[in-house]
Amino acid sequence: MQEFELIRKYFRPLAGPGAFGLGDDAALLKPPAGCELVVTKDVVVEGVHFRAEEVAANVAKKALRVNLSDLAAKGAQPIGYLLGLMLPRADDAWLSGFTQGLREDQKTYGITLLGGDTVQTLGPLTISLTAIGYVTEGNMLRRNGAQAGDVVMVSGMLGDAAIGLQVLQGKRQTADDAYFVDRYRHPQPRLALGQALRGVASACMDISDGLAQDAGHLATQSGVAIWIDQARLPVHPALRALQNWDAICAGGDDYELLFTVPAEKEKLLTHIAENAKIMLTKIGVVEKGEGVKIIDGDGNLLNLSKCGWQHFGHTN
Ligand SMILES: [Mg+2]
Repeated sequence: MQEFELIRKYFRPLAGPGAFGLGDDAALLKPPAGCELVVTKDVVVEGVHFRAEEVAANVAKKALRVNLSDLAAKGAQPIGYLLGLMLPRADDAWLSGFTQGLREDQKTYGITLLGGDTVQTLGPLTISLTAIGYVTEGNMLRRNGAQAGDVVMVSGMLGDAAIGLQVLQGKRQTADDAYFVDRYRHPQPRLALGQALRGVASACMDISDGLAQDAGHLATQSGVAIWIDQARLPVHPALRALQNWDAICAGGDDYELLFTVPAEKEKLLTHIAENAKIMLTKIGVVEKGEGVKIIDGDGNLLNLSKCGWQHFGHTN
């Protein structure tokens, strides 16, 4: 299949306003008055970020949602995305499933395809996706605003996706396999929460590489220490029973929001959690100093065998 034929058949139907049916050299974007654009990119590679046997629609959704999670972490409202697709071969069934996944998520999140490129590669299937959103001027949430005395919060539950991956790899069986696998396959970008945290959170990021490592990034960017109380971590009962603290604190793929809030604004969070329909848990405090300390029930430092999902080049 020729590139133009492929674009016409699979990608033009996904194009939105300003993309000119993917027939021009570039798209034209105009953020709403008083807003700034927020731009982020994540690249996912077969065999590294998704399993070769994963169905195409799930690959599409994960590539899109990990990017939307970054927009959520910045308090942004998504508009659309650019897609770079490096394909070892133009497989009709795969492309059809992939674009079906994109179409479903475009509807879910109210976004459209703005442009991109498709090339043939000798390497593994690779998807480079750039998501674009907007925030009201000066209101993008940053990682660098946490101050001593702030409370440390997290959305949802931690470690689910790490267990889901282990289930898919045949390393583990639980009574809740379907739940954990879904948490791995289908991250839920916390967009409503991120937007509600504008002007409330002093710092915010999404957890992609595990709580311990990502909290470390937030602490470094803010020039503070983060103390986390292990007993407070929100964990699914089946995972708590496993006592797998590596998965919970360093498993990665959570795509929950980690954020800090000045103590006097903590009371706003009940209402925010209700509106965004997401559980929020206070897991610790910001102190003067540096680094991350996770304290267990006996007051000792938690010793993790690994500290975050390490793979080359992942910066956000
Ligand atoms: Mg991120």
